Parts: sequence; C-alpha cells; structure tokens
Amino acid sequence: MEKKGFRNLRVVAKVKESAIITSFYLEPENAQDWRAFNPGQFLVFRVPVTNQGGTQNDYVLRNYSVSNSPNTKGQYRITVKREAAPIAGLPDGVSSCFLHDVVDVGHTLVAEGPRGEFVLDAASSRPVVLLSGGVGLTPMVSMLHSLASMSDRRAFFIHACENGDVHALRDEVLDLVATRPGLSAHYCYRLPTEQDRAEQHFHSEGFVSREILQSLLPIDDYEFYLCGPPPFMQAVYGILRSLGVQKQHIAYEFFGPATVLEPDSVPVQATSRPPERIDPSSDATIVEFRKSGVKAAWDDKSESLLAFAEAHGLSPEFSCRAGICGTCKSHLIDGEVAYFEEPLDDLKPGEVLLCCSKPLGPVILEI
Ligand SMILES: Cc1cc2nc3c(=O)[nH]c(=O)nc-3n(C[C@H](O)[C@H](O)[C@H](O)COP(=O)(O)OP(=O)(O)OC[C@H]3O[C@@H](n4cnc5c(N)ncnc54)[C@H](O)[C@@H]3O)c2cc1C
Repeated sequence: MEKKGFRNLRVVAKVKESAIITSFYLEPENAQDWRAFNPGQFLVFRVPVTNQGGTQNDYVLRNYSVSNSPNTKGQYRITVKREAAPIAGLPDGVSSCFLHDVVDVGHTLVAEGPRGEFVLDAASSRPVVLLSGGVGLTPMVSMLHSLASMSDRRAFFIHACENGDVHALRDEVLDLVATRPGLSAHYCYRLPTEQDRAEQHFHSEGFVSREILQSLLPIDDYEFYLCGPPPFMQAVYGILRSLGVQKQHIAYEFFGPATVLEPDSVPVQATSRPPERIDPSSDATIVEFRKSGVKAAWDDKSESLLAFAEAHGLSPEFSCRAGICGTCKSHLIDGEVAYFEEPLDDLKPGEVLLCCSKPLGPVILEI
C-alpha cells in the first residue's frame, strides 16, 4: 500500500551550492518512512512560522523538488534558493530564509511526499532536453542522474542563470555528462563576471535564444522538460513552439503560481464573455462565481471547479492542481463541495480548494 502522510526527516548535511542556493540532505528519522521518488518529484514541507513575539504559532506548506539521484536509497536532497525580500520593508521569504538561516545539521524537518507528475518518462527512448532557469534546475539534475545511469539515451542539459556566483550544482552536472557519450551540458549566463570569463564557466551569454537551441540540438524528435521563472518559461516555450515542437512533447513545472503557456489556450477574461443563459426550469447544478459575475450550469465532464472556472473565462491562481499547495483556495459562500483528492492541509470553515473539488449541489464561490 502507498505510504502517505507527514513524517520527520533529519538534516544530515547542509551544503552551500552558490551565493544564494543551499542543499539539504535529508534522511527519515524512522528508516521505514523512506519513500522512493521519481526524478522530477517534490516533497511538501511544513515550515514553522514565528510571530512577532518570537513564538511559533503556525506553519506554511512549501514544495521543494528532490535534486539527487533516485538511485540513492534512503536519502533526499533538496536545493533551495534564499528568497530575500525584493525591496526593503517587505518580509523575506518565510520558508527559504528559515531553511537557509535557521536550519542546520541535526535539525528535523516535517515533510510529505514525494509527489508530482512532472517526472522523467523513463519508458521512452527519445532524446531528452532538460531546460532550466535559476533554481529551476533542481528537478532537472535529478532527471540527469537518472539519464546518466541509462545506457545510451541522449540528453542535453541546458541551464540559464545570471552568472557563476549564483550557479548551483555546476560541477555535479559537468561530472554527470562526462560519465558517458550522448550527454552534454550548456550554460548560458546573462551577466557573466570577469572570473566566469577567465575560467570559462559558461558557453553562451545573454538569454537562451532560438539560435542557441538550433545550434545545440540537431534535428530530432526530442522530449523537452522545462522549469524556471515565468519569463524564462514563456520565452523558451514560445521558441520551442515556433520551432515546430508539439506541445505534448513539452513538459513543464512552475515553482510558484502556474500560468498557461500555450497562447491559444489562455482563458479569455470573464468580462469579455457573454453571460450564459440558464434555463430556470432545468435541474442543472448552478455554479456561481460571485465577484466575477459568472453563473453557469455545472458540466459533469469538468475535471474540477478550477477547470470549470477556467472554462468560463476566469483565471484563478493555481500551482500544484493536486490539493497540496493551497494556491487555488477560495471562499465558499453557499453550498457544498466534495473532494476527489483529499486536501493535504486542514481547511478553515468556508474555505475550498478549487483544484480537487466538485460541487455537491448549487454552489456560490467568492471569486
Ligand atoms: C512544485 C514546486 C517545486 C519547487 N521546488 C523548489 C526547489 O527545488 N528549490 C527552491 O528553491 N524552490 C522551489 N520551489 C519554490 C518553493 O516552494 C517556495 O515557493 C520558495 O522557496 C519561496 O517560498 P518562501 O516561503 O521562502 O517565500 P514566500 O514567503 O512565499 O515569499 C516569496 C517572495 O515574496 C516576497 N514577499 C513577501 N511579502 C511580500 C509582499 N507583501 N509583496 C511582495 N513580495 C513579498 C518574499 O520576500 C520572497 O522573496 C518549488 C515550488 C513548487 C510549486
């Protein structure tokens, strides 16, 4: 039976990977709590939050991709970027700064998972392109470990970041691609330092462009995996599509609220859609999105309330689409919903997760 639930993971090593990125090596406190992972999956952490008086009064849930080899039994590695406040006066990132500044070897973290559908298709034999920006390289490094242990599948690891100061796991990736023929790495620095130039840390300068991809990738039928900040994802996805790559060959993961990358599937704004006519005599289940002014008859083919909202022109924030992250949380003004995927976290009365629920009758949602 699949093991589920939060359990304690002990930090057995903490390694600084770059000026802003640090890895944490984690082992279950109880050996039977080990759960194997597929390369690309993440763990969900319960990170304590301290209030102004300095006492711990709550926690937040945050996801971190497992960045080590899935063949390393009994140990996870997560690799975390310290998300400092973007401008003075705003708070630093709760979880990443707690991990960087407070957590050390011997500390216990509480985590669920591994979870996630963004995983390497190990059954395929097609060549793979792993494309990452910034800390988005973490799932890719795990996938590269897996690919390196295969006999002959070709793989290209393409990574974009600012410069060598913030570049994590550079040597690990170079060591991996050197293990056998058919693997290669390309580093693209936006603003290389003098040292980067002197030590030839990078292969191209600026942004990952159409020209770079065309020069690196001989014509073939690749599977692409993408992870990075939204502007990187938008740009690279657009380039791949313009090069004729079919969307089913591009898998991607966002580290924050996700957005739809395919331009023709971006939902129209609620205001630009004519209101749906509802036959008052029908026994349809009516779903009302109060703030958006949208009322529509529930469609049983809808995967979830989130998908239904999107199909009616709304763009609620979402991330995991699996009841984990809470990004799609909304307020239920009236009615009842049923969960087809149990939310990972407890919900307060009146709260609803749109991504994993369906209406049990007429419902009114705040959005
Ligand atoms: C599937 C998945 C996998 C992930 N894997 C990784 C991974 O491998 N490595 C990794 O580093 N991250 C990863 N993430 C991201 C990670 O989950 C966290 O989102 C990230 O660490 C930031 O969380 P935080 O609590 O530190 O920051 P938060 O507290 O959520 O804040 C985020 C940023 O907003 C700023 N901020 C705070 N308040 C305000 C305000 N009022 N106005 C404007 N800005 C504000 C903060 O200073 C910070 O810079 C992943 C996310 C997902 C969804």
